[in-house]
Amino acid sequence: MILGIESSCDESALALFDEHSGLVGEWVHSQISVHENYGGIVPDLASREHLNKFPLLLEKMQSKLDGIDVNRIAVTCGPGLAGCLAMGLAFAKSLALVWQVSLVGVNHLRGHAYSPFISLHKSDPSKFDMNLQGYLPHLGLIVSGGNTILFRLNKDYSMDILAQTVDDAAGEALDKGAKLLGMKYPGGPLIEEQAQQGNRKAFDFPRAYFTSEELKFSFSGLKTSLRYHLEKTSDDNLEILIPDICASYQEAIVKALERKTEQALSFSSFASMGLSGGVANNLRLQEVFTILAQRNNLPFFKADRAHTGDNAAMIAFSSYADPTGTIPANNFDLSFYPSLTLN
Ligand code: ADP
Ligand code: MG
Repeated sequence: MILGIESSCDESALALFDEHSGLVGEWVHSQISVHENYGGIVPDLASREHLNKFPLLLEKMQSKLDGIDVNRIAVTCGPGLAGCLAMGLAFAKSLALVWQVSLVGVNHLRGHAYSPFISLHKSDPSKFDMNLQGYLPHLGLIVSGGNTILFRLNKDYSMDILAQTVDDAAGEALDKGAKLLGMKYPGGPLIEEQAQQGNRKAFDFPRAYFTSEELKFSFSGLKTSLRYHLEKTSDDNLEILIPDICASYQEAIVKALERKTEQALSFSSFASMGLSGGVANNLRLQEVFTILAQRNNLPFFKADRAHTGDNAAMIAFSSYADPTGTIPANNFDLSFYPSLTLN
């Protein structure tokens, strides 16, 4: 049994994963209510919350621990907020010492990259390794509040980043756009809710690198163009236009994500496609990617809702599924993890 521990940003999470039966339980404390009034994550408050909440989560998990043998602890060791990671690492190291079990680190982004395969494992645990091989090379897109990464998972489990954002992440663009529209944090789901009532062709928001073959994303110009757009719109009109604005803004992001993924598919061959990270919950994005996968005759794996945001299940799972991805405990060094790396 593997215990996963996640604390890289604003979720404190524990999960128990068994290679023969899959997920045994998950316990998550989300800090959204702590940060929403500030319009984003306050790192110091986040670290304090982790410190307070991990003992409570451990207490909740205790009943599941009766009669089972945890033989590995997998903890997120980067990238993330240094103070938050340090809380999870200290907690993981203490448990590993007390329980006398092995401790490994997992790159948070590799956790996201593997999260769509949790359901593949669940469908037939004993054949997971063989089944996964059949779906490699895999083209995955991680879309979260902090990252937008298109990557290839190769047959030898190495990963190549094919495209990433040069400025804001897709989720960040949604959150910042929502803030301009006077909505709360996190704004992605709120924009989506408004967009469902709106016309996605109403306004023409910019789609960076759209006609270029360069595999890059950029979303900061989009946010600026929304700001100009709002400056030109009178307050009286704004309320009725919000659904159209949200639908068009969301569409610009979805289409930019689709475009680069489509280009990556045309540059080399893949055996499957995947979608993960918080923005993967977006129904329009799911729809567009489902169609893209169908057009290319590729199986499409989307992370389950419980595993799109930060979670410990993907950390425990990826320490099992990814034979090359774990980091020995004596190599933890927070400075090794700039935000955009998969290693
Ligand atoms: P991070 O850990 O980097 O903050 P998460 O993986 O927790 O990222 O995802 C959070 C991001 O996902 C936020 O930017 C949020 O707005 C976005 N998000 C969540 N649900 C949706 C949705 N339904 N549509 C669009 N964006 C969403
Ligand atoms: Mg998060």
